[in-house]
Amino acid sequence: MEICTVGGYNEVGRNMTAVKFGDKAVIFDMGLHIEKVVNHEDEERYNLKSDQLLDIGAIPDYRTIDDWKENVVAIMIGHCHLDHIGAVVHIAGKYPNAPIIGTPYTIEILKSIIIDDKIKLPNKLVVLNADSSLELEKDLTVEFVNITHSTLQTVVIALHTSEGTVVYANDFKLDDHPTIGQKPNMKRLRQLGEKGVKVLILDSLNAGIFKKTPSEKVAKEMLKDVLLGTNNRGHAIIATTFSSHIARLKSIVELGMKMNRKVIFLGRSLHKYVTAAEKLKLVKISGQALVIGYSREVRQKLAQIAKEGRDKYLIVCTGNQGEPNSMLSRLAGQELPWKFQADDHVVFSCRTIPSPSNQANRELLERRLRNQKVRIFSDIHVSGHASREDHRDFLDALKPEHIIPSHGDITKLSAMADLASELGYTLGKTVHLMQNGQRLTVN
Ligand SMILES: [Zn+2]
Ligand SMILES: [Zn+2]
Repeated sequence: MEICTVGGYNEVGRNMTAVKFGDKAVIFDMGLHIEKVVNHEDEERYNLKSDQLLDIGAIPDYRTIDDWKENVVAIMIGHCHLDHIGAVVHIAGKYPNAPIIGTPYTIEILKSIIIDDKIKLPNKLVVLNADSSLELEKDLTVEFVNITHSTLQTVVIALHTSEGTVVYANDFKLDDHPTIGQKPNMKRLRQLGEKGVKVLILDSLNAGIFKKTPSEKVAKEMLKDVLLGTNNRGHAIIATTFSSHIARLKSIVELGMKMNRKVIFLGRSLHKYVTAAEKLKLVKISGQALVIGYSREVRQKLAQIAKEGRDKYLIVCTGNQGEPNSMLSRLAGQELPWKFQADDHVVFSCRTIPSPSNQANRELLERRLRNQKVRIFSDIHVSGHASREDHRDFLDALKPEHIIPSHGDITKLSAMADLASELGYTLGKTVHLMQNGQRLTVN
């Protein structure tokens, strides 16, 4: 069995991994390195062509598996975050006969990206529910195991082949109290471990953080603390989070209703992720909140809010990373019919993804807000990624023969290698530090 770590091993972003056994190959994820594109135009409309994206390192370098091109029989996507799904429209067409397999929500988001980007994909889109399997060929079965993360319907993928089982766990956390969806299916993971896992490709983003990642329930409590526990009478409240974080959005809506404020979502990407979740009946937000995706309507609504009284509303908008063309940056820059007043609240229910451009954007945004005397509440958030003590439990359940740390640069990958050595794995023999484009043969 050969594994090519195509992308996401030198950076946090553009995840893609390929596995070849016999004359068949499968691909896990095709993601964007979002930071490379985010400063173009706006947060999600990329007008760059595929080869330009390749040049700037925004998409995985699929050319490193060109010799496997004819062998690819399936493309599997673990969840709908753009660092896992965002390059599908640019790359999947190179393997026209390979179906793209994902959970209903993941495929729904993929469909909306295909429409947004006006791209025709030759690949078949195949829906597979969490905790179910699909036999692709006689010696190849794909299994989705339910897991928790910061968006809906995330799965750990187990690929059962004639040469053993490969498990792909990018991204996940172990949350025993999810606010939407089921707990991680630890029972099944343990069964897989008992049967034998040849290789585990493992999200190492927080492997260097010595704790257990808190549950989403904790984030809800943090939000409650801020929203219900501060004096916001007479003032606007604007909250921002990741548009795909439906559980968090649901908590904000619930709290807004408790505060007797009308909840309004502003921004195209919020509209996209919420609409997909509602279509699949995973959440009910419309009826409790108004979701406005289009610019003209946003302007009308903001004017209405200013007139009716800003303290009657809770506004949720895009722009948690300070993206220059996001709704929040435009509100702060007075590009919309909106003026902040002293002591208005802005709640960042997120963490700034630590890259120089993000940090610069966010700093500029906060400076503008502070200049307008806005009260800022940062880091009202818990991570969607497992930390070191979760990994210890995860590894104990799966007991893989080989570990390939993924989802980060060398510092993150080494943190996982370090934990693995603690657990008895040997660097270079059973735990493998890989870079983009490298290959590993496992017997
Ligand atoms: Zn990710
Ligand atoms: Zn993710």
